[in-house]
Amino acid sequence: MEELVALCKRRGFVFQAGEIYGGLQGIYDYGPLGVELKNNLKAAWWRSMVYERDDVEGLDSAILTNPKVLRYSGHEETFADPLVDCRSCKSRWRADHLNGAGCPRCGSRDLTEPRPFNLMFKTNVGPVEDGSSFAYLRPETAQSIFTNFKNVLDATSRRLPFGIAQIGKAFRNEITPRNFVFRMREFEQMELEFFVAPGEDEQWHERWVDERLRWWQEQGINGNNLELFHVPGEELAHYSKATVDVMYRFPHGVEELEGIANRTDFDLGSHTKGQDDLDISATVISNDDANARLAVQDQVAKRWTVPYVIEPSAGVDRGVLAVINEAYEVERLPSGNERTVLSLKPHLAPIKAAVLPLKRNHEGLVEKARAVKRMLMKLGLGRIVFENTGNVGKGYRRNDETGTPFCITVDFETLDDDTVTVRDRDTMAQDRIAIGALGDCLKERLA
Ligand code: ATP
Repeated sequence: MEELVALCKRRGFVFQAGEIYGGLQGIYDYGPLGVELKNNLKAAWWRSMVYERDDVEGLDSAILTNPKVLRYSGHEETFADPLVDCRSCKSRWRADHLNGAGCPRCGSRDLTEPRPFNLMFKTNVGPVEDGSSFAYLRPETAQSIFTNFKNVLDATSRRLPFGIAQIGKAFRNEITPRNFVFRMREFEQMELEFFVAPGEDEQWHERWVDERLRWWQEQGINGNNLELFHVPGEELAHYSKATVDVMYRFPHGVEELEGIANRTDFDLGSHTKGQDDLDISATVISNDDANARLAVQDQVAKRWTVPYVIEPSAGVDRGVLAVINEAYEVERLPSGNERTVLSLKPHLAPIKAAVLPLKRNHEGLVEKARAVKRMLMKLGLGRIVFENTGNVGKGYRRNDETGTPFCITVDFETLDDDTVTVRDRDTMAQDRIAIGALGDCLKERLA
């Protein structure tokens, strides 16, 4: 983990937020390369969840949340972790992380009884600060998918099964944020709420577990480092009938990367309750009542049902940590030297190709290299950089470390015959390729 943290800082993936003022615990910023990697991971998720399917719509909802939403969802009452205080050194810990041991800081066994600590952040909305006008920062993106259920349904005329996908920030006042971007207080989630007919939920749950395992492997995660954890009944969240966690072998241990929960009709049912005093246990519902309900109508039977929901919920930041960890390698070369390489999948690489003129500031080479960059940019492959440093060997090593799949060197031969050297990050092989063929070559190799 220390090596990854150091690499992330050195190369501009992740910084501690507000570092010059001592930072804030559990809060991080993404640097120039981190933002690209994170965006690429989110784009890959969106592509597979929304674009490649015909049964999912997207959403981007607000972070500030009306307290009623989180009251009816059950979060005000139950979204808490067990907190214990160490009476000796006054530190605070999550009881379920101590595994019966003493205080991790001073070793004392003089700990208070665990008490629930609500993880939601509150903030004031508007100029009145008397506590009557507060809002929560959402602790998960899911709730606004439920509260928008009817809006999306009406706007798209969807029928079951269908899903609503959302990527966005979530906030939890974690008792002990730690392990770099694994456990943060401000983080990002990629959540799908997939609505199905009651009775079809268990089958869909299994399908989503398989699908999500497959997807993580497509992001470059070795299947041997992934495992499934069937959350035991007593540990289930208040809304869940069954949860399967996708666990990943992080540098600090095997922990949750994504949770796939069968949330039943708990949320849509709860928000329906929050709207008025409908008889929510009724299976036959009048059309008048239906307008207020978060329900769908069975076109044939003319009956209204509150759908069940399967929720694959993944952490973007945990995903970033996992793909970096998988890709990171320090290789010993035949020359005896070492090289650090980040073998990220090309679609995740922050920079797709670096174009390097052999000699710094050489007019002909620089002009040609810029033209190559412009030509490649037009292909829409992602970020292509022009690096006018004049030290190609160093450029290769730096780009290996940041995961750039290809370096393209423009040298004096280029000026004669319009060919460039394409150097492959993983094999370090160098091919001479005509500039005219470069676009197709990269498109194929980056696919
Ligand atoms: P944990 O048990 O590790 O606290 P959780 O079960 O509370 O996690 P969920 O509520 O299932 O997490 O959230 C879904 C996903 O959001 C998690 O699988 C994880 O990837 C991500 N996530 C949750 N909490 C955090 C956090 N504090 N920092 C970063 N990512 C998080």
